[in-house]
Amino acid sequence: MAEKIKMTTPLVEMDGDEMTRILWKMIKDELLLPYIDLKTEYYDLGLEHRNETDDQVTLDSAEATKKYGVAVKCATITPNAARMTEYHLKEMWKSPNGTIRAALDGTVFRAPIVVKGIEPCVRNWEKPITLARHAYGDVYKNTEIKVPGPGKAELVFTAKDGTEIRETIHNFTGSGILQGIHNTDESIRSFAKACFNFALDTKQDLWFATKDTISKKYDHNFKDIFQEIYDGEYKDRFEAAGIEYFYTLIDDAVARVMKAKGGFIWACKNYDGDVMSDMVSSAFGSLAMMTSVLVSPSGVYEYEAAHGTVQRHYYKYLQGEETSTNSVATIFAWTGALKKRGELDGIQELTEFADKLERATIQTIEEGKMTKDLALITSLQDVTVLNSEGFIKAVRQTFDTI
Ligand code: NAP
Ligand code: MG
Repeated sequence: MAEKIKMTTPLVEMDGDEMTRILWKMIKDELLLPYIDLKTEYYDLGLEHRNETDDQVTLDSAEATKKYGVAVKCATITPNAARMTEYHLKEMWKSPNGTIRAALDGTVFRAPIVVKGIEPCVRNWEKPITLARHAYGDVYKNTEIKVPGPGKAELVFTAKDGTEIRETIHNFTGSGILQGIHNTDESIRSFAKACFNFALDTKQDLWFATKDTISKKYDHNFKDIFQEIYDGEYKDRFEAAGIEYFYTLIDDAVARVMKAKGGFIWACKNYDGDVMSDMVSSAFGSLAMMTSVLVSPSGVYEYEAAHGTVQRHYYKYLQGEETSTNSVATIFAWTGALKKRGELDGIQELTEFADKLERATIQTIEEGKMTKDLALITSLQDVTVLNSEGFIKAVRQTFDTI
């Protein structure tokens, strides 16, 4: 066997929960460790260990990511009431993704992994659509009040020198609800720059949309900051690259996306991005056929799968039943991270390894070997449905022959 590829800087490895934790180990054992002298700094973000460490491990993993620059993350459980009892939790710990995004700031880019035989539901989409999701603030950092009864709700800002800005939100005549959300110009600026840079890197048009006609200050501020940065720093480079930036209303954007051919980046505010990325990815085939990377303004990268821990499959697995869980997004999280590590450290073999593993994964599916979720939607004839482990082994076989 050839010598293993050496690494110089460790990857920050964030392990996770349930079925994806099982896939994580299989991927390492079958597809990575035989070929790479894998160097990682390991953080166990599995719910049990988050609970044991009072979630400190999540904060530590985010700090390590800032230190080393590249992380790869397995899907993790975001606790709800049912998980509190299932895992005997001390607290309903926050979403690890939320915690990590808050620590690193930045933008999440999600793009479908396109393979022959899995055609998008939207017939005119010929090329992938990349979704760029702002990963800070708005409803994800909200303050909410359940209003018990009649009274006046106000929005108050107190400046450092004590001066106040005060607006009436509503005079309640009965019970209701209230929500306070925020964002910062700094975070919006870095969101804008991350999108413009990604568009230049990948030579694709950039679309951005909000609801600025209704939200004349909040959303309008996003629109203005994007325009200001575009005009000031990017316009010339976009023109030279032959690509375009344009702003439109979110409802217009949604309508246009459906009629478009694809091959562009769609920048979305945090909530729009959350919802639209699930829509775009499932229309392209499956959440398990999607790459996802968080790019921070300081140039830090965190790669993950876009789907969850696939709980239903995990319970079957625990019962000793066969599962056919798609590991493609988790494989691509690893290849994305290894590729970036190779690029940053100048280790060409590592970058080439990651490229080859991606090709092997795609080729395996295109040869008709796939998990059940894809078998149900493929246009290929004579497919072989493999179980979770069988698919990973098939990818290894392809890898060894190309
Ligand atoms: P999910 O894990 O994404 O799974 C939802 C369903 O989608 C599955 O039951 C399965 O459908 C299908 N599916 C998703 N990924 C698949 C894959 N790789 N291969 C085959 N089928 C796949 O979402 P969930 O069940 O709503 O959430 C489970 C847990 O994940 C929750 O605790 C949630 O907090 C967490 N979560 C984590 C992240 C993250 O860490 N990034 C993101 C979302 C959710 P069938 O059952 O019909 O086969
Ligand atoms: Mg979502």
